Amino acid sequence: MQWETVIGLEIHTQLATQSKIFSGAPTAFGADPNTQACAIDLGLPGVLPVLNVQAVRFAVRFGKAIEAEIAPRSIFARKNYFYPDLPKGYQISQYELPVVGKGQVEIVLDEGTVKTIGVTRAHLEEDAGKSLHEDFQGFTGIDLNRAGTPLLEIVSEPDMRSPQEAVAYAKKIHQIVRYIGISDGNMQEGSFRMDANVSVRPVGQAEFGTRAEIKNVNSFRFLEKAIQFEVERQIDLIEGGGTVVQETRLYDAAKDETRSMRTKEEANDYRYFPDPDLLPLEIDADFLAEAVADLPELPDAKRARFQADYGLSEYDADLLTASRELADYFESVAKDSGEPKLAANWVSGELMAALNKAECEIGESPVSAAMLAGLIARIKDGTISGKLAKQVFEGMWNGGGDADRVIESQGLKQITDTGAIESMIDAIVAANPAQVEQYRSGKDKIFGFFVGQVMKQSGGKANPGQVNEILRRKLQG
Ligand code: ADP
Ligand code: MG
Repeated sequence: MQWETVIGLEIHTQLATQSKIFSGAPTAFGADPNTQACAIDLGLPGVLPVLNVQAVRFAVRFGKAIEAEIAPRSIFARKNYFYPDLPKGYQISQYELPVVGKGQVEIVLDEGTVKTIGVTRAHLEEDAGKSLHEDFQGFTGIDLNRAGTPLLEIVSEPDMRSPQEAVAYAKKIHQIVRYIGISDGNMQEGSFRMDANVSVRPVGQAEFGTRAEIKNVNSFRFLEKAIQFEVERQIDLIEGGGTVVQETRLYDAAKDETRSMRTKEEANDYRYFPDPDLLPLEIDADFLAEAVADLPELPDAKRARFQADYGLSEYDADLLTASRELADYFESVAKDSGEPKLAANWVSGELMAALNKAECEIGESPVSAAMLAGLIARIKDGTISGKLAKQVFEGMWNGGGDADRVIESQGLKQITDTGAIESMIDAIVAANPAQVEQYRSGKDKIFGFFVGQVMKQSGGKANPGQVNEILRRKLQG
């Protein structure tokens, strides 16, 4: 039997507001437990939530970025459930009328084909607190700092057909929320959490199979592995005569498996109803226009422009637009140096390798865009050879100043003085009569030996073109 995988993702992204979605309490990560939850976040009697307009602006920006309809009127609802980290007994969310309606994003598959993934909706909601299971001698601690933190929950259509497609989609959403500045997307801190709904069906069957939902995956690698495991589990189960039950599962990265957490609630278990404390959210044309006025160029547009303007390959353009910071860096090197291809090679090669090795972000790079452009200028004007340029880069990276200073202090300037190269070659020719004889008797390959000698003696600094030309002349004798 051939099986087809069907995946839909729900992504919770934390919005980068200063304060909570319905209160003035701060949202900063890492504060001491229970120092950032106020009476509103805890739902104490007599308090009233007030909607944070910045969260709405962010939701609208996202809607615009995925070409979605923005609802002129949307409703906040109470989603009721009992959990220790939810002192109110309900979460304020949006249910029937979300602020962002149907939209779409494009992902690029391995073969370079583009696939459109539908976004069903995105709605605003508040986060719950956190249960802490460590360090409490058998007790569970509750930290309510996160209660009331604004989230945008982005729900996809069940359009993905492989773990790789799901990862590509999740990466695309991550890229967009960071580009448009509505979330830091920090996965370690839980600012971007993915739930994967996974089902399988026989190839050719029209209806979807029963799905299981894997909750709270916080890395792209785990997302791929969790889905992979889950697909195999479901196929084995069905082929063994069993049936998949609709349930919530957790991915255990240490064991690389998913485990049942609870059977899935139906919507009516949550007893959703409009929150009587909050007015309907109405968005007029002025607000909408203002919220999206300064939207930056989006990743897809940037990628296409980099290909058109700088002649980059699809692959390079994709790589160099991964984040806005990286794209800005590349573009400024390309413009300053006037050599976009070299700029792309240096940024995606040497620079990225150095950043990865040092585990630092592009914003922390000790080699600024201007410095890298300066280095490329010195390659272009022949001051240094391409080979020694790597050494110059290393010098800059290690705090040696700009390219000119490193070239100067390390004496890396290319030797282009014909006289100097000639006398070097004369000496080498004189010192190696046997090899000269071989060359003259037709053994062309020995030419490389002489080039090597000159390069060695010049510390790699002799201009290769000149070396070749002078060597040929001298060896012909
Ligand atoms: P719920 O209200 O229970 O969360 P939804 O209908 O909103 O369920 O769907 C939640 C997510 O599950 C969506 O991303 C949707 O695309 C996905 N989904 C729905 N049915 C399936 C299925 N059979 N297989 C895989 N994913 C599915
Ligand atoms: Mg859901």
